[in-house]
Amino acid sequence: MDDSSEKKNMHWSEIIAKDVVNSKKPPYVVMSGITTSGPLHPGTLCEFMFADAIYKSLKKLDKGAKFVFVADILDAFDNIPAPFKQYEGELTPHLGKPLAHTPDPMGCHHSFAEHFLSEATDAMAKFDVHPEIMRADQAYAEGKYDKYALEYSERKDEIKKIVQESSLRETMPDDWHPIMPICEQCGKIATTTILSYSNGEYEYSCDRDVKYTKGCGFKGKGKISDHKYKLLFRVDWPARQDMMHVSTEGGSVDHHTRGGTLSTVAAVHRKFFKHDPPIYYKFGFLKYKGKKYSKSKGIGHSVNELMQILPIPVFEYALLRPDIQEDKELVLDEKTLLPLISDFEHAASLDSDSELSRADRKKSISYSLTEKKEWNVPLVDVLVNYAIHKDWDKVGELLEDPEGVKYLSGYVDKWIEQGWIPDKYVFELGKGESPSHPEAIKKFSDSLKEGMTDNEVHTLVFETAKSSDIPPKELFQDLYKVIIGKTMGPRFGKFAIIIGIPRLKELLSS
Ligand SMILES: [Zn+2]
Ligand SMILES: [Zn+2]
Repeated sequence: MDDSSEKKNMHWSEIIAKDVVNSKKPPYVVMSGITTSGPLHPGTLCEFMFADAIYKSLKKLDKGAKFVFVADILDAFDNIPAPFKQYEGELTPHLGKPLAHTPDPMGCHHSFAEHFLSEATDAMAKFDVHPEIMRADQAYAEGKYDKYALEYSERKDEIKKIVQESSLRETMPDDWHPIMPICEQCGKIATTTILSYSNGEYEYSCDRDVKYTKGCGFKGKGKISDHKYKLLFRVDWPARQDMMHVSTEGGSVDHHTRGGTLSTVAAVHRKFFKHDPPIYYKFGFLKYKGKKYSKSKGIGHSVNELMQILPIPVFEYALLRPDIQEDKELVLDEKTLLPLISDFEHAASLDSDSELSRADRKKSISYSLTEKKEWNVPLVDVLVNYAIHKDWDKVGELLEDPEGVKYLSGYVDKWIEQGWIPDKYVFELGKGESPSHPEAIKKFSDSLKEGMTDNEVHTLVFETAKSSDIPPKELFQDLYKVIIGKTMGPRFGKFAIIIGIPRLKELLSS
């Protein structure tokens, strides 16, 4: 098999893992990261889920692989997120400071940054994702960036030109410098400018107006070895990758545009460090009915909603199954919920070691990357049984999966409340109406015998319709009408067996 036809059978995480092993040297490091400037967003989940899938696939090829997740918490605090609007008075003076140096107004964490980082790490734990967390403020404080800061500053014209060319900028500010000092007087990082640099020492002023805040006017001196600075984002990123020997890192589509951040990052590796950059994988956007998820515009589900309303393995599966580059529609409603769960149940039933179709193999691998399914019977059977008995314990007993049914019951209650369970699974037995073809119904009922299989019952509907000279569709509608007062319902043969033949006969004759 040549490489390309082999790849057609592989899950995207396996393809990236294989590319890493083929073109990079061990130890292999997968990196991803976020700036914790606000509440967890579904996009953040993609940041760690995708990297974790690659890490897991890579670990199958090389046990020493690592996954490092960077918390960019030395970035400037530039916006008060919605849940903290009530603390606006308290937080406003801190705008422009590093997130890690901004207080947590709720007082439950060391800093603003840690407050939201903990949301992300809590979510990771729920998704069984356990990367090594690298805090940017600590890495800077430990001097890990110093050699890069020195090298960039010593060869400033060179790095400036690389940034300009790779970001397609016509001009660069005269005072452009790779270092952003933290002002000694006001603590802000967003407002400082380097005035002069020599031999690892610099002079700066805190005088910039960045709209959301202004500098304090202080003029001071600093040394790289004091670690009171951060590198500009476009040069920080390649430095961190070089420092951590990153083999692969992802970015959403917007980082991958011509002149986008990753153009600079790759150019710094090639032209400044003189080596190949890591493998950059691209991931599509999360979309809700064709529109990009956006918290500010209120488009899409929130993380909390998703985590409370969808079993986590299903959620993981929904993110990991489509090709990574595709935009992913993540919409939960009455049209999408059951097909998603049925597909997940199908994926769970596959044996990845056996001969599978290309699509099924990808589904099976996607499933293997999730936490496991916690129920053993198809959800539709659970729904039908619940509609009939309205008693979760009884449903668990009847389906011989008390734990699984208990696990699902909490979700099903919410889905019914949201209206996401199709009408045909939400009904009450005995709330029927009179049939349009009473004779055919009676004939059918008289021919029903205990011990019939679901297929036999199904066939009997067709036979009865034929001998009564009415279209089968009409007889099916009539049966549902008598039993549950609707024109459609669960697949009839199985439905009859679940109700039980004697009870069904009773319902049909009442
Ligand atoms: Zn907190
Ligand atoms: Zn200042």
